[in-house]
Amino acid sequence: MTTGAGADSPADDHLPHLLGLDRAGLESLLDGWGESRFRAAQILQWIHARQVVDPAEMTNIGKGLRARLLAETSLQEPEIVADHLAGDGTRKWVLGLPDGNAIETVFIPEEDRGTLCVSSQVGCSLACSFCATGAQGLSRNLETHEIVSQIRIARRHLGLDAISNVVFMGMGEPLLNLRQVLPAIRLLLDDFAYGLSARRVTVSTAGVLPGLAQLGRETPVNLAISLHATRDEIRNELVPVNRHYPIAELLAACRAYPLPPRRRITFEYVMLDGINDADVHARELVRILQGIPALVNLIPFNPFQGAGYRRSSPVRIDAFRNIVLGSGMMTVTRKTRGEDIAAACGQLAGQVQNGRRSLPLRPA
Ligand code: SAH
Repeated sequence: MTTGAGADSPADDHLPHLLGLDRAGLESLLDGWGESRFRAAQILQWIHARQVVDPAEMTNIGKGLRARLLAETSLQEPEIVADHLAGDGTRKWVLGLPDGNAIETVFIPEEDRGTLCVSSQVGCSLACSFCATGAQGLSRNLETHEIVSQIRIARRHLGLDAISNVVFMGMGEPLLNLRQVLPAIRLLLDDFAYGLSARRVTVSTAGVLPGLAQLGRETPVNLAISLHATRDEIRNELVPVNRHYPIAELLAACRAYPLPPRRRITFEYVMLDGINDADVHARELVRILQGIPALVNLIPFNPFQGAGYRRSSPVRIDAFRNIVLGSGMMTVTRKTRGEDIAAACGQLAGQVQNGRRSLPLRPA
């Protein structure tokens, strides 16, 4: 779907994307136009909170400014290539980008919340061995407007109140694209845009440490760490970025992380049969997380074509969980959702063109 401002203009691609501007970005655009900055909040409210697709509908904004928004900015969104609904209510959109790439966005309804899982890159460079996205390499970073569009499109289909939580757990490594992810987070938290509380936004990372420090400095959102192993020799295989940022350094960074009061860091741990799921690993996990306000999230492995792993048995997962729980550490086992439409963790593949598998360790 192509909507809104400048959609008819052949030069659309070169116009600034209105959906990619956070409040400060919008204020500086307005400044440059000699307009009052306080219009920024009104414009944010129209395009995000109220979801208008055409500046002509922004009735509290003067005609001159509306015309300028229409002519000189773009409200273009990715095109919906596919819309899948799973038996359990999980919904997945495949969104086509103008360069031929496609990304995936997943909505997971639960009794007490509705979580949208968004992508931050087209593909991923980190090549985790148990992840379908990692198998494809990285094509490029998403732009802020492409991240925000995922939320906007989902809200349009689900209703304005359906999304209570947003997690950066789709395709990509958000900490390698902070330049584009941070403005998107600011829009999620802005009362005039999506108005989510920081507790309801989670960034998940495989442990890119320079990005982790920056995230902590710049935003109070929740942090999830894809740990998956308790020893470097296992984690080097599962999460190759571990060769650059080994477990001890990662956990030191977690201990130093400026965690808001009463908050925990989530540690994701994928349960792989015979690889990382023994009792001894559970005991090691408890030991290495000592002193960190932690929530352990056990994720049953989700298979995909060509994956060389098997999911741990339910009995094994329970035994592992009981050891961690028995130590007094908060532990949950993630329910597998949307498997019948390949929407579960690690199954998002999209359409990644010219994927590269280098390990760019600095945020772009
Ligand atoms: N790059 C980020 C966010 C994307 S992955 C990160 O690594 O955290 C979101 C979560 O799904 C991560 O914990 C990831 O390790 C996990 N995951 C990836 N593939 C999986 C699979 N096949 N089965 C279960 N979980 C998987």
